[in-house]
Amino acid sequence: MLDAIPYGRKTQSAPKIDEVHILWITAGLGCDGDTVSITAASQPSIEDVLLGAVPGLPKVHLHNPVLAYEVGEEFLDPFHKADRGEIENFVLVVEGSIPNEQLSGDGYWAAMGTDPETQQPITTNEWIDRLAPKALGIVAAGTCATFGGIHAMKGNPTGCMGLADYLGWEWKSKAGLPIVNVPGCPVQPDNFMETLLYLLRQLAGAAPMIPLDHALRPKWLFGMTVHEGCDRAAFYEQSNFATEYGSRKCLVKIGCWGPVVQCNVPKRGWIGGVGGCPNVGGICIGCTMPGFPDKLMPFMDEPPGARISSTLIQPYGALIRNLRRLTNSTLNKEPKWRHNRPQRTTGYNPEKPQATYPL
Ligand code: SF4
Ligand code: SF4
Repeated sequence: MLDAIPYGRKTQSAPKIDEVHILWITAGLGCDGDTVSITAASQPSIEDVLLGAVPGLPKVHLHNPVLAYEVGEEFLDPFHKADRGEIENFVLVVEGSIPNEQLSGDGYWAAMGTDPETQQPITTNEWIDRLAPKALGIVAAGTCATFGGIHAMKGNPTGCMGLADYLGWEWKSKAGLPIVNVPGCPVQPDNFMETLLYLLRQLAGAAPMIPLDHALRPKWLFGMTVHEGCDRAAFYEQSNFATEYGSRKCLVKIGCWGPVVQCNVPKRGWIGGVGGCPNVGGICIGCTMPGFPDKLMPFMDEPPGARISSTLIQPYGALIRNLRRLTNSTLNKEPKWRHNRPQRTTGYNPEKPQATYPL
């Protein structure tokens, strides 16, 4: 009789926790662009994660206001439940900058839902204060939530900031996880979903502590510069610079900050390997960086450091480019023994084959 349980089932191990809720607050000072962005992910897609396409992970329940079926109080229910301690296993995702409500006077800068007791809006700060200590982990989605971003520009009235500025850079969850920052304006779709998948694997007991750098970014995604993954870098090295948009050459002289920005978009593409920034003609404006945008503006001017490096490389680049052109023209010609004349001129010698092909 056949065994009812297949032998291969041995490879499956149960996750440490059965279910996890993802409570996603888009009520920071933001545009919901990160939520929209992740709907384009495919490695994994949101559907893959929610339908359990990756075995061995906890069952995931996503509560994101842009994507949820529920509306109003029904949507807010799991947030209140988590606050009351009725949902223990949840990851908090925050999107948008965190406003400084100490500056908002009698009003508020940002809120989500209404407190049933006071009938007053529950500010985003209040939600973070209530939920952060109870979360298994916290993920900041996008540059606004990670470092403040565009809304935290000089001159903004809200005094807003990133999540780690608000909670403290040394903050740890009840499960011992630091804040996980996935910057990008917006986040590259697969960068975010890959990070979420890593955390789910970690919570399932199937992966070690997520490796983060000093700015709490996943190391494997933000460890290299844009320039190091840009397929226009050969133009840079040969001192071949674009002077106008639409050129296929390196864009550094018309505003690309790629050499000093940590991001993998040109290497990874935007969706399914298609798109990007400098690799497809758009200057890198450093949208993943903590100093974005103030330290990189005005975007369409040549970065100050680029002037030095692109000038220094000019004599070397021109020489190397010309030498390569010479070699390239040699490689573009076939060897002379490939002909249709009746003589063999390949150098083949049946007596001494090794004379032609020495080992
Ligand atoms: S376009 Fe930008 S990232 Fe690409 S090679 Fe030039 S400077 Fe580097
Ligand atoms: S390449 Fe530059 S502009 Fe493009 S996503 Fe990365 S940091 Fe932002």
